Amino acid sequence: MIDSAFRTPWIWKDGDFLRWEDANIHVMSHVVHYGSSVFEGVRCYQTSRGPAFFRLRDHMRRLRESAAVYQMPMEYDADDLMEASFELFRRNGMDEGYLRPLVIRGAGALGLNPAQSPVETWLMGWPWGQYLGSKALEEGVDACVSSWFRPAPNTFPALAKAGGNYLNSQLMKMEAVRNGYAEGIGVGPGGLVSEGSGQNIFLVKEGKVITPALDGTMLDGLTRKTVMALCRDMDIPISETRVPREMLYTADEVFFAGTAAELTPVRSVDRIPVGKGVGPVTKALQAAYMDLVRGRRPDSRGWLDVIPQAAKAGVA
Ligand code: PMP
Repeated sequence: MIDSAFRTPWIWKDGDFLRWEDANIHVMSHVVHYGSSVFEGVRCYQTSRGPAFFRLRDHMRRLRESAAVYQMPMEYDADDLMEASFELFRRNGMDEGYLRPLVIRGAGALGLNPAQSPVETWLMGWPWGQYLGSKALEEGVDACVSSWFRPAPNTFPALAKAGGNYLNSQLMKMEAVRNGYAEGIGVGPGGLVSEGSGQNIFLVKEGKVITPALDGTMLDGLTRKTVMALCRDMDIPISETRVPREMLYTADEVFFAGTAAELTPVRSVDRIPVGKGVGPVTKALQAAYMDLVRGRRPDSRGWLDVIPQAAKAGVA
């Protein structure tokens, strides 16, 4: 049985709100057999202007781009999906939490050609605390370099956030946890650092921030882009470059960046301590990020999508 922590009264599907117990798919759905889904993960934070999703429009755009890569015709544009997300959180009485937009190939045919399988769009949400453990943001986590490589370019399109990609991530994550680490760091087929199983990665060396350049082995995370924008705002030098594995062992600071993981310091890699512990640049960027998503820092780019408290709020 699914953990009751994920349970909410309502789940949205293709324009309708379904009760939790009615939000089912058929076992013959294409997605169950072949991993044919694309999805997003978005956080909603309580702010002084009310509950707000962070970069919801950008997440919905990326969802549509992922669907485009897999030629899944989408009936809903970003505005439709944003409206539905607002309504979902209002109905579920959620003012903080995680939103999961999901587009799947449903039950139609079972050949590999997915054209006969209908595309279904789902929105669900649940409360989600710190992804990498309750003390992760403050104390940092222990990570390892995974023995699993990230997929090579032109194999699984890494810029598309597709369900199937996460088989690789699951192998990384299970290996890490089995060996006593919180998270695995993947290298690409060329042996250079790529990303974590569900986060991008940043290093700090002599006051400069670096992150692996997009090379077809990683997702272009929105948190990654937010961190780069914050660096520019805060006059911290930032570059996207090639990152050899050994830089993880000689960096002054390392941190993960992702919607679920937020900005999580990495305190050791392969049991080798990173620098002197959670470092000042990581701390400053983490604080700026949390201030931004919680509306305590000017939202100059319009990244906070405040949930309108419509007159019909509370219809549930
Ligand atoms: N890489 C992978 C593999 C991920 O699953 C995620 C989480 N979506 C990220 C990076 C970070 O992306 P974002 O900052 O957009 O959440």
